[in-house]
Amino acid sequence: MRAYRFRLYPSKWQEKELLHHLFIEKNLWNMLLEKTKKKYNEEGKFYSKSEIQLLVKDSGLYSQSAQAIAHRLHHALQAKVRAKNRGQKWGFPRFKSIERMKSIYYPQSGFSLGQKLKVSPFGEISIVRHRIIKGRIKTLTLKKEASGKWHAIFMVEEESVPQKPNNGPTVGLDLGLNHLATLSNGNFIENPRIFSQFENELARTQRHLSRKRRGSHNREESKKKVARVYESLANARKDYLHKAANALLSQYSKVAMEDLRIQKMAREGHGKNIHDASWALFTNMLCYKAESAGSEIVFVDPRNTSKECSRCHSIASKSLWERTHQCSSCGLVLDRDVNAAINILQRATAGMAGSNACGDGIEIPSLKQEAAPSMAW
Ligand SMILES: [Zn+2]
Repeated sequence: MRAYRFRLYPSKWQEKELLHHLFIEKNLWNMLLEKTKKKYNEEGKFYSKSEIQLLVKDSGLYSQSAQAIAHRLHHALQAKVRAKNRGQKWGFPRFKSIERMKSIYYPQSGFSLGQKLKVSPFGEISIVRHRIIKGRIKTLTLKKEASGKWHAIFMVEEESVPQKPNNGPTVGLDLGLNHLATLSNGNFIENPRIFSQFENELARTQRHLSRKRRGSHNREESKKKVARVYESLANARKDYLHKAANALLSQYSKVAMEDLRIQKMAREGHGKNIHDASWALFTNMLCYKAESAGSEIVFVDPRNTSKECSRCHSIASKSLWERTHQCSSCGLVLDRDVNAAINILQRATAGMAGSNACGDGIEIPSLKQEAAPSMAW
């Protein structure tokens, strides 16, 4: 599955209706939560899936969109029950304000795409299709961005692409702080200072925002301007990652990298790493681009990749600021990240790799969560 995202230009009337639907969704979600909590307090159990589905009937939303909300709640409750059975703490789904209700979801039907996007009950909405959709459209999400723009996001099932033969070599990849990625052959992919391009603009818009009175119309407008700068920043970053991923996959038939999910667990307690967003996004891009490039992504166990000596395999701790690997056993001196990338490559070729776990639950944290300027890249 692949996501296509197109800008929408709803008319005044359509925008009003769209916002009204978000409002109904918000109320519906909060009503469901309230009833669920009440039932749980009184009877000690949750609604079944079909009971929730009954509750969302005649909500005023397109029926499948309402059902989608029922499913969302059902999944959230199931996750809670599963976590509880594992003995973990798990929050109850949260009540939503209108700011947090941003999208309307069409799981199967209710829309068709021609010159315009025809979607029930809003009619034909103007859309800019800057790309050709290859494959079969499965779902549609109408999304309101923080900047006030609307987008249509289509999830598309791709037709299997005939594989181009890729005879390139295998490479190990270490995602890092100094460079976005260091390759086992000593090359690296630069970590662009994308943020600095937007720094002045962001500072300016944020300064404007801070001068506006709370609750005023001007404040809302300023907020949107700040959101638009963040949006440009996120787009520039995505664009860069796309190009980097394409370049890498055109050269190498097999790319070995660390399993981010294991790495995340290993890092717990050390604070959330600010680079996770970029790393996860980059990994995800490599995964879905790999097939059509005729390449393969292989994930390996990330444990000790930077501590292990890539020549004699003895393990020695080093702190984050030690940039050079200096082995006291065999005397190897090598850039820290290149040493790690070679270890990753060796694990992949020595059969110590996990399965090709592409698309298997790699979460992409939202890029807009970055609040402080110094935290981007
Ligand atoms: Zn050594």
